[in-house]
Amino acid sequence: MEYAHLGEALGTDFFSVREQFTEEQWTRFATVRTFVDTEVLPDIGDYWERAEVPWHLVRRLPELGIVGETITGYGAAGMSPLACGLVHMELHRGDGSLGTFLGVHAGLAMQSIAMCGSAEQRERWLPAMSTMDKLGAFALTEPDHGSDSVALETTARRDGDHWVLDGRKRWIGNGAVADLVVVWARDTDDGEVKGFVVETPAEGYAATVIGGKVSLRAIHQADIVLTGVRVLEENRLAEANGFADCARVLATTRGICAWMALGHATAGYDAALRYATERSQFGKPLASFQIVQERLVHMLADLTGMQLYCMQIGRLAEAGRLSPTVAGLAKMHNTRAARRILSTARDMLGGNGILLEHHVARHWADIEAIHTFEGTETMQTLIVGKDVTGIGAFA
Ligand SMILES: Cc1cc2nc3c(=O)[nH]c(=O)nc-3n(C[C@H](O)[C@H](O)[C@H](O)COP(=O)(O)OP(=O)(O)OC[C@H]3O[C@@H](n4cnc5c(N)ncnc54)[C@H](O)[C@@H]3O)c2cc1C
Repeated sequence: MEYAHLGEALGTDFFSVREQFTEEQWTRFATVRTFVDTEVLPDIGDYWERAEVPWHLVRRLPELGIVGETITGYGAAGMSPLACGLVHMELHRGDGSLGTFLGVHAGLAMQSIAMCGSAEQRERWLPAMSTMDKLGAFALTEPDHGSDSVALETTARRDGDHWVLDGRKRWIGNGAVADLVVVWARDTDDGEVKGFVVETPAEGYAATVIGGKVSLRAIHQADIVLTGVRVLEENRLAEANGFADCARVLATTRGICAWMALGHATAGYDAALRYATERSQFGKPLASFQIVQERLVHMLADLTGMQLYCMQIGRLAEAGRLSPTVAGLAKMHNTRAARRILSTARDMLGGNGILLEHHVARHWADIEAIHTFEGTETMQTLIVGKDVTGIGAFA
């Protein structure tokens, strides 16, 4: 198939950023890169088109030792924050659905348990999640509360040794297949948001896959209805006592979204550069035209900026100094730049740019979801705006 190799990495590193990688970071990065180029790229287009989860690729993630983010012990990956970012970057350079699968399972569900669970709860659930024998989901968003999820309406009522959950959730990644669903609900007694691990199947838990999606087609999100779902007190996350605890989890994944965007943008830039050198029009390679070179250089400038953002948030995270606001600025900056790069890349491939077999179209569609989830570009802007002005422009 002509141009089928366009998805493969060119190793773009114009500012020699990789010279700073440690041994551990190189190993993680190289492992995922090889996996993506040899196993993900040949298969993923078909799964995306059929809107099917590529389970054979999902099952490879624990074999590669990359499940569990920065969590140590419990068989989890125990990666340094920078290595964790590199893993997500490379997975998303391959495919956004697969990367989001890991993001939901490990970045959101496992981290909720690691950060908000008791020692006993971590011991109970994390080992089986590290091997992916148990799959996780994170249910915060509701039909009427997305950006203002702080106002969530799902309720948790204490009833003896149990809690009774009622409400609706929307857009829940893996919500129809997960074994352990971290549900955020408001305690009817004290009005605080608390986290509950619902073990499925559970009576009163109904998940319906959202169809007709044009982004991240190879992972499913679900609408969830909770009708009197009974959860034991021992399944209430012990250290989740208010919305701020849920926000602590989201703050860690916000920086990861910046790495995800970098992965998608890298795929777009690499494909456009390769295509411009291989495709000829008017008797010359596209790359020989000035306007094409200018576009490539503008893409590279954006991409290099994204790499520097990621390296710095990685370093700050390693030093335990990454604030939610700085991570928010990185997410905002990188998803904006990735959309620009992918839009240009799509155009530079001409008609081939809208065909799945040339990879760019998939990334071009997938970046839309990353731009929206875990705090939209606008919401990240408002969060940073509040930080620099001292004035909150939203409630
Ligand atoms: C593919 C995908 C996967 C997801 N996975 C999960 C998951 O696993 N778990 C989970 O809990 N959630 C998940 N989500 C939900 C996601 O976090 C929300 O979609 C996101 O927070 C935005 O909420 P919303 O879609 O309701 O949009 P809305 O909040 O309704 O926003 C609509 C538009 O209004 C803008 N807007 C909102 N408020 C303001 C304001 N004050 N000022 C200016 N503009 C504003 C927004 O930026 C956006 O442009 C997922 C979403 C998607 C698309």
